[in-house]
Amino acid sequence: MSSLFARHACLPQGWVSNVRLHWNARGELIQVEQHAQPGAHEKQETFVLPGMTNLHSHAFQRALAGMTEMAGESKDSFWTWRELMYRYALHITPEQIQAIAAQLYSECLRHGYTSVCEFHYLHRDINGRFYARPAEMAERVIAAASQTGMGISMLPVLYSYADFGEQALRYDQRRFSTGVDEIMQLIDALEAARNDQVEIGVAPHSLRAASMAQIREVQAALPAGRPIHIHIAEQQKEVDACIAFSGRRPVELLLDSGLVDQRWCLVHATHLNKAEVQGVAASGAVAGICTTTEGNLGDGFFDLPDYIAAGGRFGVGSDSHVSQSPVEELRWLEYGQRLRLQGRNIASVAGQRKVGDFLWHAALQGGAQASGRKLGQLAVGYRADMLVLDDQHPNLAGMRSEDVLNTWIFAGNDNLVRDVYVGGSQVVQDGKHLQQPAIQAAYGACMRALRAL
Ligand code: ZN
Repeated sequence: MSSLFARHACLPQGWVSNVRLHWNARGELIQVEQHAQPGAHEKQETFVLPGMTNLHSHAFQRALAGMTEMAGESKDSFWTWRELMYRYALHITPEQIQAIAAQLYSECLRHGYTSVCEFHYLHRDINGRFYARPAEMAERVIAAASQTGMGISMLPVLYSYADFGEQALRYDQRRFSTGVDEIMQLIDALEAARNDQVEIGVAPHSLRAASMAQIREVQAALPAGRPIHIHIAEQQKEVDACIAFSGRRPVELLLDSGLVDQRWCLVHATHLNKAEVQGVAASGAVAGICTTTEGNLGDGFFDLPDYIAAGGRFGVGSDSHVSQSPVEELRWLEYGQRLRLQGRNIASVAGQRKVGDFLWHAALQGGAQASGRKLGQLAVGYRADMLVLDDQHPNLAGMRSEDVLNTWIFAGNDNLVRDVYVGGSQVVQDGKHLQQPAIQAAYGACMRALRAL
């Protein structure tokens, strides 16, 4: 199969009726035919949309989801969550990270993500030594992506220090430890894995874990056009520590370096002042908003209205994977703002008053940019990454196409994604991943072992 007829297709300009999508053997769209007639034996679908990019993932954290929701003796915070995350992270084997990532990616595909930016920092073995194949852990995650059909931008993480001022890593951070030369060696080792479904970029972990000199060096050594991601200004404590260290706020410090451009994704960017909001928007970088994780960890609210008004680009990511659904990320992105501002219909612009449509298209474009791949639109030259919604679901019965995105994002909790194609290959049918039993069995075995620790 290399074409599909959509009664309603969500194209860059909006919904268009009677569209035939053609793709080639590489999974790239080669023709988007409007005013088409369905062929007698052609696959016909009602609502077809481009798949979403999940622009921020730490796959192994899927194993922790739901395990840190218990209050401690003292006030719980991001930093106590991080302690448990480290305990798990220290024990995961290459086989286990592949099983966890495959489970995660199959879930993400079922909910409408067709590509992921993997912010990968579990590099070394349990004792802190590199594996015989130094990129083994990253290769396992890429193998899970290819097993499930997920497109991936693998971002090996540069992680050298425990905090601002180049403080030495702690013993429980030994698996993450990398310097500039090591990270470039990992990237070199992964170059052979690049193909139509796989891109390789880099991610300095944060301004805490990488120095500005290192970031400058890595960016200079990276091949042109590759994505660069960083965690930034997620927690107020980090902002305070950065000011104490440098006299400047983290985003201010990064923007002042002159490094940030369209290749960059600033993950979280939660705590911004007005000048930083303008600065990030003007840089052309993408803000990587991870609403469900930010809510789970109590990070704070992104300044969405000012950022949108400044023309800022953004996408969404599931980060710690308390949710695997782009609908939930986008819904809570809007609801967080409504709660914060005591208003409604925040995420919109003059040319797009429908909040669901604005959010979906903005996150498609931002996610695609952050991935460094040709994604996010049903247009010639882009990947044939397509979602088919369940037109038999009561929510969509008799629905006009222009109301589909608002209904999908804001009404109910059923997963309306019925079928999913990545690079033209079907990976989800009737809401199930085609390899779901085998993936779930491997994940179950892995989790029984980890939970026994
Ligand atoms: Zn993260």
